[in-house]
Amino acid sequence: MTPTTASTTASAADAAATGADRAAAPALLIRGGRPYGEDVADVLVEDGTISAVGPDLSAPEGAEIVDAEGCIVLPGLVDLHTHLREPGGEEAETVETGTRAAARGGFTAVHAMANTTPVADTAGVVEQVLQRGEDAAWCAVHPIGAVTVGLGGERLAELDAMAGSRARVRVFSDDGKCVSDPVLMRRALEYVKTFDGVIAQHAQDPRLTEGAQMHEGRVSAEIGLTGWPSVAEESIIARDVLLAEHVGSRLHVCHLSTAGSVEIVRWAKQRGVDVTAEVTPHHLLLTDEEARGYDAVYKVNPPLRTRADVEAVREGLADGTIDIVATDHAPHPADAKDREWDTAAFGMTGLETALGIVQQTMVDTGTLTWRDVARVLSETPARIARDLDQGRPLAAGEVAHVLVWDPRPAAEVDPEEHASRGRNSPVAGRTLPGRNRLTLLAGRPTVRDSRLAEH
Ligand SMILES: [Zn+2]
Repeated sequence: MTPTTASTTASAADAAATGADRAAAPALLIRGGRPYGEDVADVLVEDGTISAVGPDLSAPEGAEIVDAEGCIVLPGLVDLHTHLREPGGEEAETVETGTRAAARGGFTAVHAMANTTPVADTAGVVEQVLQRGEDAAWCAVHPIGAVTVGLGGERLAELDAMAGSRARVRVFSDDGKCVSDPVLMRRALEYVKTFDGVIAQHAQDPRLTEGAQMHEGRVSAEIGLTGWPSVAEESIIARDVLLAEHVGSRLHVCHLSTAGSVEIVRWAKQRGVDVTAEVTPHHLLLTDEEARGYDAVYKVNPPLRTRADVEAVREGLADGTIDIVATDHAPHPADAKDREWDTAAFGMTGLETALGIVQQTMVDTGTLTWRDVARVLSETPARIARDLDQGRPLAAGEVAHVLVWDPRPAAEVDPEEHASRGRNSPVAGRTLPGRNRLTLLAGRPTVRDSRLAEH
C-alpha cells in the first residue's frame, strides 16, 4: 500500500461542513494495524478525517499514537436493525444506553426500528429519535419509519413525510410485525421508489405462526412447545421477491433464518430481483437445541433453527446471497425474560457481541475474510440505507468512522458489563474472541480498550 494524502475531496468538504466538533478532535495516529486484515499500514486521523493511510507515517506534533500492532482496522460498523426502545420502552433501553452499547460493539451507526411507543410512523417521531441520537453522540442514529400507521397493517404511514423530514428516512419496516397484506406491501414497495427507499420486511405469516413459541421440528415436538414452521417465513419471502420484481422496487429481508429462505433469495437474485437480505449473529451461532432447557433467553423471533439452517445461512453469507449481518438487538427488562417460556418476551441483545460472534463463526472458521466483514457489517448496510456518510473506504479524505479490533484476546461474555440496559444476551457465559481496541466517530474516540470514552 502506498501512502496517500488528503486532498480537497467532496467527502472531506462534507465533513467540514457537517461537523463543527470534528475539527476539535485531536490528531491521532493508528500505528501498525492491518486495514481490512491485509497489509500493515498506519492510519492518520486529523480534524475528524482520515488524512493519510500507508506504512510508517510520521505523527504530527501533539498527535496521540495508538499502538495497533496485531489489530484489524475496519470502517466503523453499521447496524441496519437495532431496537433502541425509545420513546416508550425506556425500561428496556434508551437511545443513550443503546448507542453506548453500539459504540462498545464497534458500531458508528445504527438504524433504529420503528416499533416504539408511539410508533415511529410520522415525521415528528423520527425527528425526535434523530435528535436523541445527536444528543447522545455515541454513534449516528438513523430512524427507520413504520410502513403502516401504528404497525397496524391496514393503512400506509406517511412515508413521504418521513423521507422528507430532517431524519431523511430511507428504510421502512413494521419489524416485529409482518406486512402480510399483499396489496399493502405492493403499495409500499411502489411508494418508496419515488425517493429510492427500501421496505425491510419481517417475514412471518401471521396465520401460520399463531401461538408459536419456537422452531417447528423435532425439538419442539419433544419438549412440547408450539412450533413455528419454516414455511411461515419462506412463503412471505417468496411472495415479496415476486412483488418487488413486479413493481421494480427494492426489498430487504430482515433476519432470514432458514435454509429455504436462502434458496429463495438466491433464486431471486439470479432472476435480477433487487433484493437484499440480512442474518443475525445469533442465527449464525445457535440452534433450537438451546430451547431444551426452557431458558427464555433463547426465545426469539424468528426462532433459532436447526443445525442445517445454521450451515445454510453461513453458506449464504459467504457466497453473497445474504448481504449483511444485522443484530436485531432486542433488549428487554429482566421481568419480561426471567419467566416461563410461554409468557416471556421474544428477543435478545446483540450489539456488544455481534463482531465477536461473526469472528468466531465466520472468520476463525476461514469462511469470511476481514475484507468481507467490512462489507457485510459496514459497507453494504450503509449502501442499503443510502447512507453516504458511513461504510466508507479507509482512505485519505474520508470521514474517520473507524474501528480498531484486536482479534487475539478471548473473554467470557458477562452481560453485567454491558452498556445496554438489556441483560438478555444469548451468549452470556460463552467465550467470544476479540476486543474493541478503539472506535472513532468522526475522529473522536467513543471507545478505548472496550471502555466508553466519556465526552
Ligand atoms: Zn423482526
